[in-house]
Order: sequence, then C-alpha cells, then structure tokens
Amino acid sequence: MANRDRSKELFKKAKRVLVGGVNSPVRAFKAVGGTPPFIASGKGSKITDEDGNKYIDYVGSWGPLILGHGDKRVKSALREATQRGTSFGAPTKYEVQIADSVSRALPSVQKLRFVNSGTEATMSALRLARGVTGRKRVLKFEGCYHGHADSFLVGAGSGVATLGIPDSPGVPEEIASLTIQTPFNDLEAASRAFKKWGKELACVIVEPIAGNMGCVLPVPGFLRGLRELCDQYGSLLIFDEVMTGFRVAWGGAQKLFRVKPDLTCLGKVIGGGLPAAAYGGRRDLMNELAPEGPVYQAGTLSGNPLAMAAGLATLEVLKVDGVYDELEDYCRRLCGGLAERANAASIPLVTAFKGGMFGFFFKNEIVRNFTEAKGSDMVRFANFHRQMLGSGIYLAPSAFEAGFVSLAHTKNALEETLKAATEAFRQLR
Ligand SMILES: *Cc1c(COP(=O)(O)O)cnc(C)c1O
Repeated sequence: MANRDRSKELFKKAKRVLVGGVNSPVRAFKAVGGTPPFIASGKGSKITDEDGNKYIDYVGSWGPLILGHGDKRVKSALREATQRGTSFGAPTKYEVQIADSVSRALPSVQKLRFVNSGTEATMSALRLARGVTGRKRVLKFEGCYHGHADSFLVGAGSGVATLGIPDSPGVPEEIASLTIQTPFNDLEAASRAFKKWGKELACVIVEPIAGNMGCVLPVPGFLRGLRELCDQYGSLLIFDEVMTGFRVAWGGAQKLFRVKPDLTCLGKVIGGGLPAAAYGGRRDLMNELAPEGPVYQAGTLSGNPLAMAAGLATLEVLKVDGVYDELEDYCRRLCGGLAERANAASIPLVTAFKGGMFGFFFKNEIVRNFTEAKGSDMVRFANFHRQMLGSGIYLAPSAFEAGFVSLAHTKNALEETLKAATEAFRQLR
C-alpha cells in the first residue's frame, strides 16, 4: 500500500476546520473506510496526491472533466478570459456563444439561463414549472439525485444514500410532502401516481440515465411513457441532465432516447471544470422567467466569464464527430474487462455504460432501480475500492456513483486498470 502520510495529516487538520474534513460529504470516504487522498495536481487521465502517489482517475471531478485534467485548450481559454477580467456581473460575449452552442446541441433547449451549480439549476427549473403551471407537486424517482434543494431531498441517491439519510433534518414536512416518489423504471407506478395526483403535478423530474445510484439505464419505453403521462395531465417533463448532458452524447440522453423534455437541467461538463450549470427549454416557458416574466431567479456570479470560457472550450472539442464513440469504446472495454475478470474469479458483477459514463454492481442480475442497487454487495465494493486505490486506480468512494472516463484515458490506462482489477478480484475471493 502506498504511503499516504501527508494526506492523513492534512485530513486530520481539515477535520478541525471543515465539517468532516471536506466540502461535499461523499469525499470523506465514509462509505469505503480509510481516509481520502488529498489531491495536489492532475494531468490527462491521472491525478497525483500530496504524497506523490499517482492514480488513474475515474471520478473526473464527478463528471466535468471529460477532456481530462489540465487540458491545454481549456487552460488557454481560461488564460485569455482571465486576462480580460474575472467577473463583471454584466453580459459578456462568452455567454452568448455557449448558449448558442448548447441550444444547437439540444434543440429542446430554445432558451436557457446559466447558474452556478446543478442544485441551482434543478431548484430553479422546479420553481419555473410551479410558476407556469400553478401547481405544487413534483414526481421524482427513488435513487435519482437532483441536488440538495429541499424538494429533492426525498429518496435521493448518491451521498444521501451512502450516508443512509432517507430525508434530511431541516427539510420541512410541508415541503417534502409535495414531492412524490416512485421507483425508477416503473412506468406502472408512475402511472398510478398520475391517477392520484396528476392534476396537481407541476412536473416530473428524472435523470434520463440514473447516475447517482450507480449507473442505471432506462428500460425501453420508460422515458417515452413519462412524456405521454405529462402530456395527458398537463405536467411538465424535466430531464435532469446535469450528469448526462454532454457526457453520454452531443445532445445528451434526450438525443439518444429520442424523448423531448419541456425543460432540461445541465451542469458538470458544461462548466469544463469550473462552477457552471444551466436550465433551459421551451421558449414560451423560459419567457416566464424574470426579466421577461414574473418567475424570479438571479445570480451574482451566473454566467461568470471564466466558467463560460472553460465550458465553451470543452464543448468545442466535444462537438467533433466520433468523440462519444471513443468514450463509449473505452467504457465498453473497461466494463467488459471487469466483468470477464470478476467472472474468472467467480465474483458476481454486472456493469452498465453509455458514452463516457459507466457503473458496476457486485450482484448477479442487472440493476433497474434503487432497491436493486441497494441489494448489491457493499462490503465487497468497499474492499474492491481499497484494493484498487492501493494499486493506483481512483474510483468514486461509493457503490452508488457512476464512473467517468475522459478523452485523455488511453489504452495504457485501460490495461493498467484491468491489471489492477485482476489482482483486486483475486484478493476478494
Ligand atoms: C451532480 C448532480 C446534481 C447537482 O449538481 P451540483 O453541481 O453538485 O449541485 C443534480 N443532478 C444530477 C443528475 C447530478 O448528477
């Protein structure tokens, strides 16, 4: 096992002044045990910790770094933007350029508004949906994570699931009770919810590919069925593509599954590693937002020129043909290789991937919802995670997170990863 003394020392200090030593819960490694490496730098597919250990990174800052660490094009765009100034709180050309790019990639997004985080995007989209429909209720799916706004901290996956907090104290019952949740991939259950509350539902919000309970693909007909239910009852369909947008395809999951949402939330990749997110959709809906309409939402640093420049530089690379095939090819080989090696060691493992995101569960049958995800072997995951980290492979420290690859992940990285996995599976038996 590599020496991580400096990281351990830093973590000890961090815990005195930062809650849990971190600024986002999953980073604390509670689900897998041990302490987190403190990262000093990153280049391409690799990150280096404060003790000088190198890791092949499958977290990519939780999704944004689809070009890898320290991409030249992003750095150069940032350099140029920085020279002009870091923030104006006034319109800049970057905002127009990136909005144009996003709208072209996702035709359902006729108009958009930039914000600073995915959480802001989803909570603002919900306010807009409530504002235009005059309805209060929202339907979400168990294990889907839509950021930490009150309305969504009900049956959320990822950090919440990992920590075993079904709801969070501080979320008023009155607000939580407006959120209805049914199992992901269960159209029947959604249909029953609509029968009961359809006329009160402002919207349905869904991760079109779930990425916060591991990676769980939608079953055929699920997303289309939601579209039909929304149309039938006059509710809006919100695709939370904060993770999948520009991650699984140019055009997002909505392009892959050919379902058109009314509103879309974006984040992660569109900020190119800086804090940026957005929500957008039908022009008539977006025009209800201030200053054109009465629904209020604002932000001091929204559309910040540095974030816009990094996002734009990232999108410029992604719009080239074949990019997503390359990412998916890596994921296919990685998942195939993991499954093959687990199988050889008689360890049950199922995998899923799309574009540049992937996931695996220590389980026999394919996972379609949160209950099934929770039925995977967590102890085995924690052990596997520890083994892999020791061999220089940095996986998300929770069984409920998707993994991400970047265009900087090479064939060598893949081979190194699979070699480490062979050894890890051997140790797990
Ligand atoms: C990450 C994520 C969010 C929240 O984004 P933050 O920038 O962390 O606030 C919302 N929805 C989905 C699907 C996400 O993956």
